Amino acid sequence: MLRQLIRKKLQNYRIKLNSPDTTLPIHLSSQKTVAVIGGGIAGISVACNLSERGFDVHLFEKESFLGGKVGSWEFQSNGETLRTEHGFHGFFRQYLNLRNFLKKIGAHKHLIPIDDYTILFDKNKKQGFKGLDNTPLLNVLNLSKFGIIDWKTFLNPLGIPFINLLRFDFASTYKKFDSESFASFANRTYMNDKMRLVFNSFSRAFFAEPEDMSMAELIKSFHFYFLSNEDGLLYDVLDSDFQNSFISYCEDFLKNNKATIYFSTPVSELTKNENGFLVNGKQFDYCVLCTDVKHTKRLMSNSRGFESYSTTLSQLTSLKQSGRYAVLRLWTDTFESDPNLPFFIFTDRLKCLDSVTLYHKMEKESAVWSKEHDGGIFELHSYAVPKDLITDEEVKTHLMNELYHYFPELSGMKIHHEYFQHRDDFPGFHTNQYANRPEIKTEVKGFYLAGDWVKMNNCTMLMEAAYTSGSLAANYILQQENLQENELESVPLKGILA
Ligand SMILES: Cc1cc2nc3c(=O)[nH]c(=O)nc-3n(C[C@H](O)[C@H](O)[C@H](O)COP(=O)(O)OP(=O)(O)OC[C@H]3O[C@@H](n4cnc5c(N)ncnc54)[C@H](O)[C@@H]3O)c2cc1C
Repeated sequence: MLRQLIRKKLQNYRIKLNSPDTTLPIHLSSQKTVAVIGGGIAGISVACNLSERGFDVHLFEKESFLGGKVGSWEFQSNGETLRTEHGFHGFFRQYLNLRNFLKKIGAHKHLIPIDDYTILFDKNKKQGFKGLDNTPLLNVLNLSKFGIIDWKTFLNPLGIPFINLLRFDFASTYKKFDSESFASFANRTYMNDKMRLVFNSFSRAFFAEPEDMSMAELIKSFHFYFLSNEDGLLYDVLDSDFQNSFISYCEDFLKNNKATIYFSTPVSELTKNENGFLVNGKQFDYCVLCTDVKHTKRLMSNSRGFESYSTTLSQLTSLKQSGRYAVLRLWTDTFESDPNLPFFIFTDRLKCLDSVTLYHKMEKESAVWSKEHDGGIFELHSYAVPKDLITDEEVKTHLMNELYHYFPELSGMKIHHEYFQHRDDFPGFHTNQYANRPEIKTEVKGFYLAGDWVKMNNCTMLMEAAYTSGSLAANYILQQENLQENELESVPLKGILA
């Protein structure tokens, strides 16, 4: 009965974001050109959604591969050709629009489930979430069985603000909490250590230190990932490298729909003129900017013809990046000793290491290498590199030391190959960013934005936000041409107690 009431209150866990007019035509009958700048998930989403409707889509990507942060590329090391990526990605079950797209292009068959969402702490202690009730609200109460909440949580008068975690609502949550960091919230509510551990890991999954992470963004993400659906923290991963299991399907789809892809073609100057947009010397009717925040700032600083659109220009040139993050993948001659670990583990960082992925257990190509060489492939992430670790060597040394702390059995292992990335191109979900965050539709006619950093009035994050924003940008263009929009979904927009 209670479960049914919760389900009803949360609108069966999904809502429609639009109601397309089915009397409108599907295909474009005139010639319209669209420049899509940036070939990550957002750019792929725009390009696929418009090319299949007959738009002449030109996708510009600065790298030699598509996918952006889910791209994958080859490199040479010690006489071997290997493939690497930006890092491990979880495809949560509530990524409704992205999953529909994976089904449509045939890539969903590569999704495999992970056993548990696990956090390692105090060297040998594990916090898993298997067996948690899957009904929102009941799952929160159920956290008591892991000691994350207890009767004191509710009796502590300073803990009354915890209720706001259950009351997500765009207007009031951002108004009240966007200027407060998670660390400040946790301090003023005397949050217990276990709850802090869980939310610290959660906050770092958005590449922000607890002192920087906007509490409003954290409440939104807690709603999206935990309280708006029956899938909670369950997620799937791709069973093969991103190129084989995801991006090659997108490329085939784009080719079949006659889109033109320009690889290794950075757009360095964008001009708005009276006929539309000039991109790398070519004229277009529409332009959708799908670059990451770091490169968006650069590109817009070099753009021309946008001077009279001061809001758009100032929003785009003042976007905030996260701090630095690091990804270190290691091809070794040793395995972890605990056979029961899932292939992705969060660690309660000592200083730097936030997660470890056991690629040899997860990905087909890695499993083959592992079998041939009798060794594990490990990927270490630091989602927010501490400010006092500056050089690559400092970051690597800390990552390795913390790996050996959590996996002492790996000390002394031989490293055959390594690939290290130390980057700063993730959006900052920091305090006080929301008010000035740009939206998909801009004041410039025909110019739209898409990416995981764009402000939307639906509840999505990360990959799902990137895909959904691209589809919404495509919908604006379909609307403009009087064509039928694509239907999009989302989890409910308000929290259970909102
Ligand atoms: C280590 C790591 C782990 C992650 N884990 C998860 C996870 O588990 N689950 C999840 O949902 N999300 C995860 N994410 C986040 C996810 O990858 C992103 O939210 C999503 O891929 C962003 O897609 P996007 O298209 O908005 O941007 P991007 O992927 O950044 O794409 C931007 C594209 O623009 C291109 N570009 C930039 N400038 C130019 C230019 N001037 N001209 C042409 N092209 C240009 C770039 O090369 C890039 O291809 C993770 C990210 C990282 C880095």
